[in-house]
Amino acid sequence: MDKFDYMVKHGFEQLVYFYDKTTGLKGITCIHDTTLGPALGGTRLWNYNNEDEAALDVMRLARGMTLKSAAAGLNLGGGKTVLIGDAETCKSEAYFRALGRFVQSLNGRYITAEDVNTTTLDMEYVNMETKYVVGLEGKSGNPSPITALGAFYGIKAALKYRFNTDDISKFSYAVQGAGQTGYYIIKYLLENNAKKIYFSEINPKHIERMNREHPMVEFVDPNEIYSLDVDVFVPCALGAVLNDSTIPKLQTAIIAGTANNQLLDEIKHGKMIKDRGLLYAPDFVINAGGVINVYHEMKGYNRDNVIRDVKKIYDRLLEIFKISDEAAIDTQQAAKVFALKRIDTIGKIHTNYIN
Ligand code: NAD
Repeated sequence: MDKFDYMVKHGFEQLVYFYDKTTGLKGITCIHDTTLGPALGGTRLWNYNNEDEAALDVMRLARGMTLKSAAAGLNLGGGKTVLIGDAETCKSEAYFRALGRFVQSLNGRYITAEDVNTTTLDMEYVNMETKYVVGLEGKSGNPSPITALGAFYGIKAALKYRFNTDDISKFSYAVQGAGQTGYYIIKYLLENNAKKIYFSEINPKHIERMNREHPMVEFVDPNEIYSLDVDVFVPCALGAVLNDSTIPKLQTAIIAGTANNQLLDEIKHGKMIKDRGLLYAPDFVINAGGVINVYHEMKGYNRDNVIRDVKKIYDRLLEIFKISDEAAIDTQQAAKVFALKRIDTIGKIHTNYIN
């Protein structure tokens, strides 16, 4: 893999490799674009097969963060860190403090947070060596209810656009995954008297919790969730669930959920969904509640302000759906147009000198 070619192709600013000889910490931080502000993105710990796999992953994820924050109206760029190691054996206070020192060495160009295989408690150690870390215990707290709230407003926006009413009670829903975010979406849908809710799960504890707390929410086999005759499919489990085999099965008018990277192939499957006449709420727009939540930690956390910002996902999606129709492009491409336009415009207003 020629990394400079890839950097040039997608406009990456910086790729930093680091190694700590005391703890064996090995990692890569990628800063994709800082036009709007410091690059923010979590630290993922993974046992990558090789360095190139890790480099490609960190670059892909950092680029995704640029789009997510730009579309969310935040003054943040996109970044990410990956650590190469076995999460079962490599973690320690020293390991994460060593990471904190590398984060600090970027002097605020990059801000980190927890991600896959790292926790808010690990970030406490990072915070001993750098102030450039968010998502700490006792600050913005668990992002999942907020992410779910954003997706709830996203579902309402899609209903409004497709059916000219955002009255949740008139429609039926199929929620894939009743984990951290799916559980809360179901709760918000129930509070708004959803006509009917189905859910699929593979974790027996989560199935049991739903049956106990909300017996009216009907369990369906994970393979059957795609072909249910409902108005909204709400993916809240895995990535790549929208693909050649699932898209033809969908009976829904709308796809709107929290899962990251829902389209297996962004170009092919974004178009396939549009061609089938389904309305897809782009994942990086509808699931931005989490990043909006930690952003507020940087500004002095206030829950009311967070909720106010998260509700803006509604209007933002309406604007993206309009761009998609007017430009005859699928909604994923329209969301990119929307995000890149903001980066371009805000970047340009910064060209004149002010003291
Ligand atoms: P989670 O792990 O708490 O929940 C996912 C649930 O899906 C689990 O209960 C799991 O058992 C279930 N599941 C896995 N495979 C399944 C399958 N084949 N069929 C049905 N259910 C299945 O995760 P989460 O925090 O709710 O996140 C869900 C998605 O949303 C992920 O893609 C995540 O990256 C994304 N996301 C989450 C947040 C957040 O704030 N938590 C923010 C942005 C994006």
